[in-house]
Amino acid sequence: MNQIRISLVTLGSLKQPVDVPYLEKWSSVVMRIEHRASVGQLPDAEGDDWQYTDEQLAKVLAPSHGADLTLGLINAPLEDNYFLRRLPQNVAILSLHEMAEIVQYENFTVETFILRVAYELTCLYKAEGRIPPTGELSWKHDDIRGCLFDMCSSKGDIVFSLQRPCLCDACRNRLHQRQVDAKFLPALKKELTGLKKTLYFRLSDWVRAHPILALALTSLFAIALNLVSSAVFEKAKRCWPWIA
Ligand SMILES: [Zn+2]
Repeated sequence: MNQIRISLVTLGSLKQPVDVPYLEKWSSVVMRIEHRASVGQLPDAEGDDWQYTDEQLAKVLAPSHGADLTLGLINAPLEDNYFLRRLPQNVAILSLHEMAEIVQYENFTVETFILRVAYELTCLYKAEGRIPPTGELSWKHDDIRGCLFDMCSSKGDIVFSLQRPCLCDACRNRLHQRQVDAKFLPALKKELTGLKKTLYFRLSDWVRAHPILALALTSLFAIALNLVSSAVFEKAKRCWPWIA
């Protein structure tokens, strides 16, 4: 199966660290992210409310040679306050503006958010053979299903498709109708299960969802620890009577 090669290009100051090596090392058979270039300084935004328009960004970000699609990463408002805009020539722009705070507030990482969008673009490219510009063609559905193609008209809705995102039945059927590699969907499903919070925050969520059970388990653990330590002490006393 051919991997979709995604060229990641950072645009201007991202205002916060992004672990690009982590993205490049992400284990995937369906896509590969490579950080190829950066645009150091951006011109002033030409749109209303300091938004960068599609037309302006298309002049700033050229498609990368040798990549299937180019993903620009920016921390500024985009046209119509979208967080993802698709431009001509298989170029897309992902904005961390407001989104970084939203995903981090829910204890997800910015890198998980970027990977989730990379998988969305990968599916689109696999099915359409290109990345259609925003407004030309959309797979998005208004209904929030935890799917890669949730519309997320409210930016906060992104969190529903960050914890183990999936393809809903309608989107999966849509992909089935295209001539995609037979191994693509099973591989995608497996890899999407890897998109989740860190272990610490997963445990924290579990404790919040099951407070009584967590308290009971903690009490049982404390009792068990007490019994074990008592048994160890009794054994130690037999071996070394002077410690009693
Ligand atoms: Zn869907």
